[in-house]
Amino acid sequence: MTVHPTHPPFGSHRDLLLVGGMPLDRLAARVGSTPFFAYDRGIIDARVAELRQELPNSVRLAYAMKANPMAAVVQHLSRLVDGLDVASAHELHTALDTGINPESISFAGPGKTEAELRQAVAAGVTIELESFREALRVTSISERLGLRARVAIRVNPDFQVKGSGMKMGGGPQQFGVDAECVPDLLAQLRTWDLDFVGFHVFAGSQNLNAEIIAESQRQTLDLLLRLADSSPWPIRYLNIGGGFGIPYSQRARPLDLALVGRNLADLVPVLEARLPQAQLTIELGRYLVGESGIYVTRVIDRKVSRGKTYLVVDGGLHHQLAASGNFGQAIRRNYPLALGNRLTADADEIVSVVGCLCTPLDLLGDNVALPKAEVGDLLVIFQSGAYGLTASPTAFLGHPAPAECLV
Ligand SMILES: *Cc1c(COP(=O)(O)O)cnc(C)c1O
Repeated sequence: MTVHPTHPPFGSHRDLLLVGGMPLDRLAARVGSTPFFAYDRGIIDARVAELRQELPNSVRLAYAMKANPMAAVVQHLSRLVDGLDVASAHELHTALDTGINPESISFAGPGKTEAELRQAVAAGVTIELESFREALRVTSISERLGLRARVAIRVNPDFQVKGSGMKMGGGPQQFGVDAECVPDLLAQLRTWDLDFVGFHVFAGSQNLNAEIIAESQRQTLDLLLRLADSSPWPIRYLNIGGGFGIPYSQRARPLDLALVGRNLADLVPVLEARLPQAQLTIELGRYLVGESGIYVTRVIDRKVSRGKTYLVVDGGLHHQLAASGNFGQAIRRNYPLALGNRLTADADEIVSVVGCLCTPLDLLGDNVALPKAEVGDLLVIFQSGAYGLTASPTAFLGHPAPAECLV
């Protein structure tokens, strides 16, 4: 008999989960309906504090909004970090609404439209150029608006980062300008009137191996120092991405942040000597918010089919696609789950937790050990703060959208 543990960042109060210091049943009553997402600002604060502690003081921290674009979350983070990274006009509006200095907003992503670029130039944010054509578009928009656009070049590096859940750099890519073509683009920029500030590299996501992250940061800075030699202007901005991962299973080990910090502390003096005006930025999404969130659904039915017990809940992959293993994961693994109202009961039953959609893909927990659940219980999925609601097909089957709250 094992007691089902609360997932590490969250606390418990008697046998109830604490979210933002509030027992889960009270939070559920306050929200008023299930399913819902709740994000704990205390956990976000602690994560930022840990990063500030472990990374050199001169390193700037940016939040990549696509991980969790909820306006309240972005507003909260805008006070804690040094920059926001956006990937669409809608995210740009949310970022500008926080009141953060527009120069601290960077806009990356392939296929930015004419309208998006116009809004970005007008707002004065840093546009991360993903191609020669995009550079030309930004130049003509700049001329038309009479505003000198602030731009950086997103570089597709000439190396790959191993161990990432998702690779976004190295080899052929739709992202960024191939490193070997950057000197040509810089030569073009010389003839155009843009405010060129520096470079951006984002090579991969969900990496738990600190040695590999450290090595890729060394390679990235080597590459950017070489490219800086072709720049007619001083480099003021160097965004070297991040890709820091969080553990989704009991077996996965958390990232050794101290090692990443020590490596950066070795690199910073080299950088300061070569490019004294450059501000080094680390840009993180998942690592800042992923562990702060839970997705809460209610058990609607429990049924036994030919000896196998199913808990049917009122949520599903239409809200939390990643927990079903269908958000690009190579191998399906259960997210950490708990019955939020039976935390200390013995986990003496093996069940499959399924959502309410008419597809066998809607599997939230495959053969998990849980305390014996009753209809009405609250099933909690941890690690749901990043790539949850907005990375899910909410329109599929037409169920209502879940509530979201920051507590
Ligand atoms: C998605 C993305 C991020 C955030 O990635 P995480 O793995 O969530 O930290 C950062 N930068 C860029 C350019 C991205 O596309």
